[in-house]
Amino acid sequence: MRARKVCMIGDFAVGKTSLVSRFVHSTFGEGYLTTVGVKVDTKVIRLPSGDDIKLVIWDIEGADPADREPDSISSRMKTYLQGADGILLVADGTRPGTLEVARQIGGAFATEYGDIPIVLLLNKSDLAEQWQVDEGQLKDIDGLTQCFTTSALSGENVART
Ligand code: GDP
Ligand code: MG
Repeated sequence: MRARKVCMIGDFAVGKTSLVSRFVHSTFGEGYLTTVGVKVDTKVIRLPSGDDIKLVIWDIEGADPADREPDSISSRMKTYLQGADGILLVADGTRPGTLEVARQIGGAFATEYGDIPIVLLLNKSDLAEQWQVDEGQLKDIDGLTQCFTTSALSGENVART
């Protein structure tokens, strides 16, 4: 079976680990345990063509400040990203600062890894009353292939139930 490596990247506590739990295990926990280093999960998905592929999902700890500087990606992050087929860049729609971090990471990564698709996930869409990001703020993010609002809690745009 073909395999594809996808990396979850973004600021602390935006929901990277929760999105992976929802997608792979169909669970959501309120608890917050900082991810140390990297955790790898796999899930086999069926493509519209009928082919199965194994997604190998790397849940990477909150990005190093070095990764937020233009043209500067930490050597540790480069190691994690080796062989990646796609990047899921996660931000928290209730915390605009996390979108700023995503913008910085996106810019640095688009320069270094121009051929790897970067998809932005604006997470926590269930917290509508605390939502603080509007579409205009998404326009100046470089290198994005696509953008979705998601919720690890409700499963919006995560789980296919
Ligand atoms: P990570 O540091 O990016 O891996 O973030 P976590 O997945 O550990 O989540 C950080 C916190 O946000 C935890 O308390 C989660 O329960 C919470 N959280 C994550 N995703 C969502 C979501 O979609 N909705 C809500 N309401 N809370 C979320
Ligand atoms: Mg985590």
